[in-house]
Amino acid sequence: VQPPPSTLHAFRAAVRAVPDRTALAYFDGRLSYAEADALSDGVAAHLAARGFRRGDRAAVMLQNTPHFVLALLGVWKAGGVVVPVNPMYKSAEMRHILDDAEVTAVICADRTWDGFLRATAAEAPSVRLALTTCERELQTRDDARVLRGEPLGPQEGADDLLAVAREAGRLRAAPTDPGLTADDIALISYTSGTSGTPKGATNTHGNIAYNAERQRTGLGLSEGATYFALAPLFHITGMVCELAACVANAGTLALAYRFEAGVVLDAFLEHRPAYTVGPSTAYMALMAHPGVTRDHFASFETLSSGGAPLPPALVEKFRADLGPYLHNGYGLTECTAPCASVPPGKQAPVDKVSGTLAVGVPGPDTVVRIIGEDGRDLPFGEPGEIAVRGPQVVPGYWRRPDATAEAVPDGELRTGDIGFMDADGWLYVVDRKKDMINAAGFKVWPREVEDVLYSHPAVREAAVVGVPDAYRGETVKAYVSLRPGAAPQPAELAAYCKERLAAYKYPREVEILAELPKTTSGKILRRELRHRA
Ligand code: ATP
Repeated sequence: VQPPPSTLHAFRAAVRAVPDRTALAYFDGRLSYAEADALSDGVAAHLAARGFRRGDRAAVMLQNTPHFVLALLGVWKAGGVVVPVNPMYKSAEMRHILDDAEVTAVICADRTWDGFLRATAAEAPSVRLALTTCERELQTRDDARVLRGEPLGPQEGADDLLAVAREAGRLRAAPTDPGLTADDIALISYTSGTSGTPKGATNTHGNIAYNAERQRTGLGLSEGATYFALAPLFHITGMVCELAACVANAGTLALAYRFEAGVVLDAFLEHRPAYTVGPSTAYMALMAHPGVTRDHFASFETLSSGGAPLPPALVEKFRADLGPYLHNGYGLTECTAPCASVPPGKQAPVDKVSGTLAVGVPGPDTVVRIIGEDGRDLPFGEPGEIAVRGPQVVPGYWRRPDATAEAVPDGELRTGDIGFMDADGWLYVVDRKKDMINAAGFKVWPREVEDVLYSHPAVREAAVVGVPDAYRGETVKAYVSLRPGAAPQPAELAAYCKERLAAYKYPREVEILAELPKTTSGKILRRELRHRA
């Protein structure tokens, strides 16, 4: 795998090679590579004119819109670092990020700016400028209007992103090449907080360009293929496997604001994408949508599920109902999205003992070890912590030498996930180390119980946690949401698990919820359920 130094280099190569090809497709709106180049030049020129310098940080807090991509490219062209932020964040979460990353520029929706960010940013001493986008039009699919350039109402204290991009782009006062290298920090990706106080992982341009190029060559999609952004771009999976991989392939990136099953299915028919990737929960929601047909998936050459556990029962149901095979992939923010995946044309084996589906095989140049408490390699089949070394592993966390030394000692990432390898080189993820349930000294891994629950026809989503128990210390509790029309009793689901699992593993309690709590990137939040119990 021979990547360029950065995704900006890949973008510029695409602009030279195919200037008229559609780079971004948003409902009825289209931007060619040349247009996206001119507009992002404008963003960069505006930032530079306002004193934004190489290495400065810009928080980009937007949904999956063309503006996200223009903002990202603009900041990189100005030599800056992008801090992608979940648009659902509120004032306190944002304040932590603004201060921790010493953010200079904020790029967000007008509604966010008016709602709270103007006030939050006013209190953050580092923030000096803001650019906003018009949220209402974006949401009502009327982005064609925005892209045509009709003026939007100015926001107090902020400039309109597209207006300044056009203005500065017209003057062609593009900043000089920032001379980015593979070692420069491209992103500060704050952990989503499923595991404590957010820390900023520093993904370099080299990390991203490597994984993007690896996706391009590994997936074997035709040059210029259409990618659909199912995962949010503010999350590393969307950023790398959708956006950066699409740019590496000089492809078209189709976007649809944010995940909503009906809208996504319509967009599949409109854009006929060849590839997409999202968390397993997105596929569960698409499969449960009343209007879904096999035709919605007819254009796909490959479909990937990544960033969250993929129950084997889902893969089977998905294929039986809709046709495609879901390719599993494993990764973390700290290894810039995937480090192992199921190659196209192959199918992941299921471990006979635990029923776990393999997440894939490690990519080229990537060494995955399974290690014991003492850091030594464990034999095939034996579970231990997954450690990863490779060109996609981040150098560390932003200004956190303590956390860096713990997570990436000598450049090898300790993932905090427990897994094992089989003799054929397939990697299996058992669970997160810290989610293990200790029931009277017996280890229970929630995933194994969840996989059984997912095989029950009534279950839509399942999450298993340990809850305090006077006798066992901790006991197993399951939360489930149901498929439309299903109405099993909790005791029936517990009995179903009891039949299929060792006595200490089955859930003593099952609670049915309308919806399980999730992060906006679609991951089920066991932590919240634990607190609820
Ligand atoms: P935070 O680190 O902020 O707590 P997070 O762990 O959700 O949030 P990510 O880096 O997005 O942040 O998630 C990576 C984690 O997701 C992995 O460590 C692993 O536990 C889980 N994961 C990713 N892909 C898979 C997969 N294919 N199968 C099982 N688990 C997966």
